[in-house]
Order: sequence, then C-alpha cells, then structure tokens
Amino acid sequence: MSLFPKLNGFFIRHDLWHAEEVSLATIAEQFGTPTYVYSKKALTDAFNAYETACIRTDGSRRARVHYAMKANSNLAILNVFAKLGSGFDIVSAGELARVLAAGGSADKIVFSGVGKSKVEMIAALQAGVKCFNLESIPELTRLNEVAGSLGIKARISIRVNPDVDPKTHPYISTGLKGNKFGIAYDDVIATYQAASTMPFCEIVGIDCHIGSQITEISPYMDALDRVLHLISTLDAAGIKIRHLDIGGGLGISYTNETPPAITEFANTLLDHIEEKGFGHLEVLFEPGRSLVGNAGLLLTTIEYLKPGETKNFCIVDAAMNDLMRPAMYEAYHAIVAVKNKSSVPEVMYDIVGPICESGDWLGRDRSLKVEPGEHLAILSAGAYGFTMSSNYNTRGRAAEVMVDGSKVHLIRERETIQSLFANEKVLPA
Ligand SMILES: *Cc1c(COP(=O)(O)O)cnc(C)c1O
Repeated sequence: MSLFPKLNGFFIRHDLWHAEEVSLATIAEQFGTPTYVYSKKALTDAFNAYETACIRTDGSRRARVHYAMKANSNLAILNVFAKLGSGFDIVSAGELARVLAAGGSADKIVFSGVGKSKVEMIAALQAGVKCFNLESIPELTRLNEVAGSLGIKARISIRVNPDVDPKTHPYISTGLKGNKFGIAYDDVIATYQAASTMPFCEIVGIDCHIGSQITEISPYMDALDRVLHLISTLDAAGIKIRHLDIGGGLGISYTNETPPAITEFANTLLDHIEEKGFGHLEVLFEPGRSLVGNAGLLLTTIEYLKPGETKNFCIVDAAMNDLMRPAMYEAYHAIVAVKNKSSVPEVMYDIVGPICESGDWLGRDRSLKVEPGEHLAILSAGAYGFTMSSNYNTRGRAAEVMVDGSKVHLIRERETIQSLFANEKVLPA
C-alpha cells in the first residue's frame, strides 16, 4: 500500500523534491512559506487527458471540458486552461469576472449553483454565458423575469438529482435524495414543462453532478442512464435537449485510491452515450479536482518540533486557514520532507499549524526525518486548497507560484498584514 499519490510534475531528484526543473528548497528560499506550488505541465497533461477522449480521431469534437473553477480559481491557472480551449463552470459573479479577466470566453461558461442572485443573473446574461444550470422552479421564475427585464433570452439546463450514491464523503456527495442540489428525479419532466412556457428561457440542456472525489465509474453510469431516460421522455413530449452536462467529481489519488484514469473515464462515458443512441448530443464535463488536485502542493517550513506525552508535534508555518481539507473533511494529504535527511532519526509526528484550534492539523501520525527550519511539502493540494483558505487568526493568505520547466512565476503575492484590515473602520470619536 503506497502512502503517496502518483504525481506528475513533482518528483525527487538528488534527495530533493522538485517541481519540474526547480527544487522546492529553492522556491521556499526565494518566495518564503507557506506557498502553493503548481506545475504547469501537470495542469496541461490533466487537461489533455480529457481532450484525448473529447476529440475523435477525425478531429471532430464529441465533448468539451468546462473546468469547475471553484477548485482553484487563480487567474494564471484559468489562463492556462483557457489557452488550451477549456470552457468554465462557475458558481458566482465573482467567478464570472475571474474567467473574463483570465481570457476565458463567456460562450463557454456554464453557471451552476443553487442560489444565484438577481445581480449575478444580470451579470451572466449581459456577458452572454452559454447556459444557466438551474436547480429550482423559483430560480427558473426569477431568471425568466430578470432576462425579460433585459430583453434577453436565457439559455437554460435543469440540474437533475439522479438519486445515485457516489460512495464518497457525505459532505461531498450531491446526487442523493435529501441533498440540497438539483431537482428531484420525479419532478424533472414537470420542471421542463414549466420552463417551456417561460418566454425568456430557452431550453438547451440537461445536467447533473453527483458528488466529488468519486473513485468508481459505476455511479456515473447509473446517473447517466437515468438522465438519458429523461432525455427520451422529454423528446417524446416535444422538448428537445441539445446538450448533456455530466458534471465533474472524478477523484484523484491522495494516497492509495485508484480512480479510473481520466481518458478511460471520459471515453467510457462518451462511448456509452453513443451506444445508447445519443451521439448527436453535445456533451459537457465539469471536472475540478481531477484537473488541478495533483498539480499543486503546499510548501511549508517547520517552526518547532514539540515532543509530547502521547504524541510528537511538528509545528509548521502553514495552517488550517491555508488548507482546510483536513480540518473540514478529515482529508488525508501525503506530507513529505523536501530534503531527505538520512542522518536524522525517524519520528512519528502530528503535523499542526500555529492556529488556536485543536482542529488545526494537516496530517496525523506521519513518520518523518526532519529538523526545525526545514521544509515540508503537503501533496495533492491543488484543488480546494487556496480557494478555501481564509484569514483566520489574521493570517495573510499564502503566496502562489507556477513552475514551468526551469522557470518559477509568482502568480499571487503573499497577502500583506495591512491589506487584511484595510477595509475596516473604527467608530467615529
Ligand atoms: C464542484 C462542482 C464540480 C467539480 O467537482 P470536482 O469534484 O472538483 O470535479 C462540477 N460541477 C458542479 C456543479 C460542482 O458544484
């Protein structure tokens, strides 16, 4: 059983962890810590693994990736994907603005999320997004009104809750009954019928998204069959669906998980759609984690080694505000010493941050040969790492760098302390 994920773009050379051609020790010295480090090659290869399945041998396209940017929304990352031809899945007006600032095009944006505000609908309609993925009749009604007030037709898709169990963490499963997401399977047809009477809504698609960190293909096949059945029923009722958006959720290996490879996963779903006679549909994928998760790590410095009665603590300068996943989901991230120090004895540590919370841990029971002042890399931190980070304990958020071959680009400066309270004001005297 391997405790480490399979990585692309990060590896050990001469006893030192590297990001592409650059040692992580060099990055830590140059940019300080904590710092998120991304590999452009890993990002590009993951995207191209989807593209291999999305483009037929004759060059025609059978599907397109819409990167679910909530996984990592740094402009440089969005720009890498935009240049490769990616579309985007957004969940807020803020994400819309980021895509446009990063050079993405509005006609390749789908707008997901259960709680779109009027202001967000207006921004997305004016930008001309490809599609709104809607999740309730009140949302549909509001969009019809907002679009009407602008004299614009909104292209829409209904998010189906297919009621399948993705066998993942309860917090990251979204396609089961009792979940806040999507329209209940049995209500989908009636919802489309309601939509078809709305003058400022144009039905173009159907979508689903069953959860996250899914490591098996069978829940996808179940969801797919249920959605294809709905498409046939809608067709018989005179409602034509042009695109099928099968969401994201493909898992990555954090340790010993064995999710299907991206190309195999995408090919299996696309082949199934064609075999069932739906090859005419335009297909959309909305991957987040599988594009960026293993393309990034969090680099940190050891402040202290603190022996305890029952546990030894390795106190580092990164914390739960930088990487929330362990505290929030008890998520496992492999943690490695940047420099292999064979002379130091191996000790079992809990890796913790300086924040005043017992939940502030990054890894438990890890054997490491380390000394204070050295650097650790918290692996598989490219997805839901920086984007979920906060300023708790008035800690500036980490710097972010992207490595491209032998070059390191600063893609987000470390936040200064002054900037953290620049928008605050004391009461008048
Ligand atoms: C979060 C989300 C995704 C991406 O999920 P991953 O697990 O990161 O692939 C895709 N679609 C929707 C609607 C989402 O909410």
